[in-house]
This record gives sequence, C-alpha cells and structure tokens, in this order.
Amino acid sequence: MLARAQRLRKNLPAARQGRGFRPVVRNCGHNGPPATCHHGWVSDDSSWLQRAIELATDSVSDGGGPFGAVIVRDGVEIAAGQNRVTSNFDPTAHAEVQAIRTACTALGEFSLAGCTVYASCEPCPMCLAACLWARVDRIVYAADRDDAARGGFDDRRFYELFTRPRAEWEVAVKSLRLPEAEMPFHAWRAREDRHLY
Ligand SMILES: [Zn+2]
Repeated sequence: MLARAQRLRKNLPAARQGRGFRPVVRNCGHNGPPATCHHGWVSDDSSWLQRAIELATDSVSDGGGPFGAVIVRDGVEIAAGQNRVTSNFDPTAHAEVQAIRTACTALGEFSLAGCTVYASCEPCPMCLAACLWARVDRIVYAADRDDAARGGFDDRRFYELFTRPRAEWEVAVKSLRLPEAEMPFHAWRAREDRHLY
C-alpha cells in the first residue's frame, strides 16, 4: 500500500499532492468519525459534486460542453475532467471519460477500483459503461438525464433507445458472423500472460 501511495503522489500534479482542492471532510451522517464511517468514505459527497459542477460551468466559459467530473479515492482527487467534444473533435470526450483517462494515466493502472466518480450530470450510457469498465466503486451525480435533455443533449434519448429492439433503431446494427469471428478470442485464451480486465 505504501509503495502504491508513494507512486500515486509521485504521479500526481503538485496541485493534487495535498495542496490542491480538498473538500471539507464531514461525517456522512453515520455514527463515528468520518474516517471510520462504515461506507469507508471520508469525504463529503456534496463537496465533491460542487467541484464537478464548478468544472462543468467553467467548461462552458472555455467553450466546452456543460459537464464536469472528478475522480476521488481515499478522499483525494485523482483526476478531473471536462467535456471537450467540440474542441477536441472527439464525440467520446465526455467529462467522465476524460477524467477516467487522466486518472488511469496518473495511477498507471487500468482499474479505478476504490474510486468514486462525481459527475455534474447523470452519466450517459457511454460514460456509465466506461465507469463500469473502470471498475469504480461508486458514481454520484447532480443533474439528471431530464436536465440534460432540456439542455439539448441526447442522454435520455439514448437510454430510451436501449430499451427498444435494435430493429427499431435508426442506426443499423448488424451481426455478420464470419467463420473467423472467434479467432481473436482463440488467440487471447491461448496467451498465458494475458492481463484480464
Ligand atoms: Zn457521457
């Protein structure tokens, strides 16, 4: 654990090594001091969400989309992200994805187990799945898909799309099962040093 903590401090920007943003630490409402809360979370969700909302608002000022996210572990900010879809010409550059990429790079890991993602708005299906792939422990959000819809964003529409048969979708999703379809998985299973994720 010590080596991991040292690596974490080493990899994080100076602003995040204890001199950067740290929310007010408060008891989450359960008995005992914050550090022994049975959820294991020493920091206050509201404070981290406010940080995510500030990032989202600042993003608009910078010409980005109105979304921000923060990834926190053990009460310390690991990474922050802002929507950069239009500025990066990247439809996947949502705040949560940006934060996940930054956090994994900072930690040198592809798992964010033990982390909480704080998002200014309910994660869209892509970001929700990205959080699942990142194996985060918790996701906390402020605004929801209805707020996003009023802002002109498709989060709610995509959630609704997944409840309908693919045959009804505007975009064609076609399965064409070639004989070679399983070859990559054969190669994968044959590789003994594969890193499961
Ligand atoms: Zn998203």
